[in-house]
Amino acid sequence: MAEVRLADIRKRFGALEIIKGVDLSIEAGEFVVFVGPSGCGKSTLLRMIAGLEDISSGELSIGGTVMNDVDPSKRGIAMVFQSYALYPHMTVRENMGFALKFAGMAKADVDNRVNDAARILELEPLLDRKPKALSGGQRQRVAIGRAIVRNPLVFLFDEPLSNLDAELRVHMRVEIAKLHKELKSTVIYVTHDQVEAMTLADKIVVLRAGVVEQVGAPLALYDDPANTFVAGFIGSPR
Ligand code: ADP
Ligand code: MG
Repeated sequence: MAEVRLADIRKRFGALEIIKGVDLSIEAGEFVVFVGPSGCGKSTLLRMIAGLEDISSGELSIGGTVMNDVDPSKRGIAMVFQSYALYPHMTVRENMGFALKFAGMAKADVDNRVNDAARILELEPLLDRKPKALSGGQRQRVAIGRAIVRNPLVFLFDEPLSNLDAELRVHMRVEIAKLHKELKSTVIYVTHDQVEAMTLADKIVVLRAGVVEQVGAPLALYDDPANTFVAGFIGSPR
C-alpha cells in the first residue's frame, strides 16, 4: 500500500487552475523529489499534502487514511521550509522540543526525542546555544531536527537548501541523504535544482505548469525522457 497517494488532485485559485489533476503513489521509505521550473506548482502541491492549503478536488491519503479535511497536525507529516524560522529566544534544545511540549508530551519523553535527533544530526554540542550563535547550516540542521522529533510518517521539504551558499548546499545534500538512510523515512522533497534531484531521489516527479510530465528513477528520466521538456530540464547541467 502506498504511504502517500494523490488521486486527480487539483488546485484552483479563483478561476485559475494551478494544479491540474495530479496522480501519484509514494511508497513507504521512498525519497521522492518534485522538480520543475519556478511557478509550476511544487510548493502548492506540497502545501496541500501538508494541509496548509485546501485541496480543490481529488483525494489525498497518507498511511491509508483520506486526509483531505484532516488538520495538519494530525496528518503524520512534518515539514521543513526554506526559511527555517527558529525561535530566537529559545535554545536549540527548546526549539527542537517545542512542538512536542506544546502537544503535552512528558518532559522525559521530549528530552529523549531531542537527544536522539541531536545525535543523528550531530547537534549534541550545540543544544544549549541560541540560533544567533549558529551557522546557516547548523540552523538548517535544527530545523530538520524539529521535524525528526515529531517522528512523522512523511517528511516534506520545500527547497530547504536554497538559502545556503553553494558549498554548504553540497554538504547538506550529503547530510540529508545520510539521514534518509538512517531513518528509512518517506520523504517528499521539492527543489528546482536538477543536481539535488538527481543525487537525492529514488523517484523524480517532473512538474510543468501544474501537470506531471514524467515520473521515474533519476537515470530512467535521464536516459529516456518522455519529451523535450523533461530532457531539457533533467539533462541540462547548471
Ligand atoms: P513553485 O513552488 O513551483 O515555484 P508555487 O506552487 O509557489 O510554484 O506556485 C504555482 C502557481 O500558483 C504560481 O503561478 C503562483 O503564482 C500561483 N499561486 C500560488 N499561491 C497562490 C495564491 N495563494 N493565490 C493565487 N495564486 C497563487
Ligand atoms: Mg516553491
